[in-house]
Amino acid sequence: MPEYKELRLLLGDQQNIHHSWFLKKDPQVLYVMLEMHQESEYVIHHIQKLMAFFLSMRLFKLELETSGHHVYYQYITDALAKMPLEKRINDLIKKYNVQRFAYLEPDEYRLDQQLKAICGQLPISSSCYSTEHFIADRYTLKNKTSKSFVMEPFYRSMRVKHNVLMTAAGKPIGGTWNYDAENRKRLKTIPSTEPPITFKHDTKNVISDIKKAGLKFIGTPNNFHWPLSRKDALQALHHFITYRLPHFGTYQDHMILDDPFVFHALISFSLNVKHLNPIEVIRTAERALKSNPELYTLAAVEGFIRQILGWREYVRCIYWLQMPNYLKLNFFNHHAKLPQWYWTGSTKMKCMSESITQSLNLAYAHHIQRLMITGNFALLTGTHPDEVDNWYLGIYIDAIQWVELPNTRGMSQYADGGIIATKPYVSSGQYINGMSNYCKSCYYSVKQKTGEGACPFNSLYWNFIDRHQGLLKSNMRMQIPLANWNKTNIQTKIEVLEQAATYLKNIDSL
Ligand code: FAD
Ligand code: SF4
Repeated sequence: MPEYKELRLLLGDQQNIHHSWFLKKDPQVLYVMLEMHQESEYVIHHIQKLMAFFLSMRLFKLELETSGHHVYYQYITDALAKMPLEKRINDLIKKYNVQRFAYLEPDEYRLDQQLKAICGQLPISSSCYSTEHFIADRYTLKNKTSKSFVMEPFYRSMRVKHNVLMTAAGKPIGGTWNYDAENRKRLKTIPSTEPPITFKHDTKNVISDIKKAGLKFIGTPNNFHWPLSRKDALQALHHFITYRLPHFGTYQDHMILDDPFVFHALISFSLNVKHLNPIEVIRTAERALKSNPELYTLAAVEGFIRQILGWREYVRCIYWLQMPNYLKLNFFNHHAKLPQWYWTGSTKMKCMSESITQSLNLAYAHHIQRLMITGNFALLTGTHPDEVDNWYLGIYIDAIQWVELPNTRGMSQYADGGIIATKPYVSSGQYINGMSNYCKSCYYSVKQKTGEGACPFNSLYWNFIDRHQGLLKSNMRMQIPLANWNKTNIQTKIEVLEQAATYLKNIDSL
């Protein structure tokens, strides 16, 4: 039996081949990668998410071995995959007579706590190292005193600190920090462009392994085209930058029937498992702007960089600042369950059926579908944030708690009472009609608030405003809808609220 001095654990989302650990081949070091029931069952995942994690881990194992590193790899079909992590680490330490245990900072609070507890019990020394992935330290916001931690000042300080889209004089290029107003125009015609690049994988074995291991899942394994290695991820990034980034800004908030990806990058899985480094993505976009300012507008490039240097880094800092309490927040005291059709897409509401069916087919929906369609509906209908979190955490290819939770519970459900968002992201059908072409082929009429065939978003929106007036009245950004509701005549109010009550009562058949 070989012996190793050091055992280094690599979690499924720690596939950073440029990590300093891998600079040196060391026959005394054993890397450990474990497919585990623990990680596959804390929520019911989309089958494509399970496939993407297992397949990319298996490719990463091969890459490490090809570079001369020693790897212990556990497949999900192995009986040992059912054992808890503590037991597996202890058994491997004994088996290989290991003297030191090392791991990389887990991104999830749950695993961070678990590994700290495991290390506290080990008979040998242990150390934790950085993943060398994120741009900001996870505790960057710790010394802030205000109740609200809006993203904008954080983003600007990141731009300055890392010299991103800045002039030599330390000003934002173009003179403005933010081009959101340009990026929020109503949907008109869409330019044609290359569809996103797709990747072909042999998925037969992994699907059979998932089934053999008895893992529960949602969604379909078909249309599985995700980038699964650093090589794939770089190709996907360059394809996006070449063909789709030029239109990213203008169309980033738009939703188009039968066009699930619009001009989005499809790189969240690659970033979250660390095949791509956020700074390299940002610099690539910056270089594109510099090399061809006629093709790439500043609004498009800034809009894209803001998502990564701003939102992605920011939600991670919020997560580490707020955990574990964040998991319990429920500002509106909502308790409803999600309607059954969140797991089938069978609803007459076109916006919902399109966004959910697409999510079940592809494990993907873009930001505005997540925020202003499925999230909006869940909030309007008073769904418990735990229900909403579990759905988002399971269904998306990129869903890992550190990024899912602040986006879902904070940004989309306002369950944190405004730590992240400056107002609840709710809307009537009018917004959806302005930003998509869904309403044109919907069973419901977006123009109607009440009566046969009225768009459910309309009455549910005003019902939400009415129901939560007390909690919303101190929010400056909610003053206009509150004033509009207050000046609505009483008969109309009654009709709208009755319509909402009927829809809520019959929510499973909407
Ligand atoms: P693009 O739109 O092309 O953006 C480029 C990159 O920017 C993304 O890959 C992502 O890394 C980053 N980004 C964009 N918006 C955000 C954001 N709000 N927070 C963090 N990073 C962002 N993203 C996840 O990675 N995992 C999640 O579990 C997740 N859950 C979400 C839940 C809700 C309710 C909402 C509203 C958003 C969520 N997001 C999540 C953010 C965003 O929707 C996805 O990152 C994006 O849709 C991924 O697709 P893309 O790569 O095509 O992104
Ligand atoms: Fe959605 Fe209402 Fe438009 Fe139908 S009419 S697609 S339910 S917003």
